[in-house]
Amino acid sequence: MINTNEPIIEFAINAVRQAASLAGDIQKEMVSVALTKDDRSPVTVADFSAQAVVGYLLGKKFPDAILVGEEQADVLRLPDERETLERVTDFVNREIPGVTPKLVCEYIDRGVDVPGENYWTLDPIDGTKGFLRGAQYACALAYVEDGIVQLGVLGCPNMNADLREDNGGSGSLLVAKRGSGSWITELRESQADHRYSPLAVSTRLEPEHARLMRSFESGHTDVSRVDLFQEELGGEAEPVRMDSQVKYALLAAGRGEIYLRLLSPGKMDYREKIWDQAAGSVIVEEAGGRVTDLDGNPLDFSQGRTLKKNRGICATNGILHEAALTALRKVNA
Ligand code: AMP
Ligand code: MG
Repeated sequence: MINTNEPIIEFAINAVRQAASLAGDIQKEMVSVALTKDDRSPVTVADFSAQAVVGYLLGKKFPDAILVGEEQADVLRLPDERETLERVTDFVNREIPGVTPKLVCEYIDRGVDVPGENYWTLDPIDGTKGFLRGAQYACALAYVEDGIVQLGVLGCPNMNADLREDNGGSGSLLVAKRGSGSWITELRESQADHRYSPLAVSTRLEPEHARLMRSFESGHTDVSRVDLFQEELGGEAEPVRMDSQVKYALLAAGRGEIYLRLLSPGKMDYREKIWDQAAGSVIVEEAGGRVTDLDGNPLDFSQGRTLKKNRGICATNGILHEAALTALRKVNA
């Protein structure tokens, strides 16, 4: 069982719940209008709003904690961005009544810290492209100690608590603490009503039946090599294309067996950002899965803002991990 009254767990759940619910509202209210105009402003507003909420709550609860967030407020302070800042302030005001634009910038900038021995890391909107398409995205918060993720929370506004896709639905929240398993509940219910269900990876052991997952955006992976990998395993199903760490959520819940992040051909030196992998990886591990880089090395979260020592990601239900690594070597991934 997980003790959701433990202060850091309670904080992380509440912070993600508030930030992800707000992001869900912003997607509903702004995205459909913007889609027709190829306008990125909804995701900008949601990114900043969600980080401001988490920065504020962390400052209140753990004033000395280090927060490494994806965003910083510099751009919002530019005169050209006054309207965006006003929009962000209006949304943040729903969670923090009376907040001012100046305070919003300060809360966002709580996330400019450098990763230390112990730190929090936040992706306020992971899967910005999915957010803009009206599809999947997540709010991801994790706590890291000595390079190892100890706690991860994912808020998934467009996945229900049975991990069914439901754009505009009530959303799900996943939490894992190392040694205490992975759990899922509703995103929006009040804390008192929560029922947490345990998550477990799939027990499928035939490589040819493995269900694969990969980024929706082809620029974030190597699509043709994912296909070669699938052939190498002997499988035939099309990999599931999805944005964000929701892919880790599906793996943790047994809805797929292998999630690959291959290096895209034009960006072989790309290294994963810590906030893109921290929460999702511990959720998979605590559900019984395995997460390594493409060479089978453990992820090292002690290297700054990126996983400098790791190349790509291979995450599986555990049973199929060695088979996946062997296939990766064979296709030179
Ligand atoms: P996904 O939703 O799986 O496409 O992953 C989203 C994340 O991919 C974003 O949060 C980015 O930080 C990250 N990203 C950006 N460029 C690349 C790249 N060239 N290769 C892998 N990941 C990337
Ligand atoms: Mg991200």
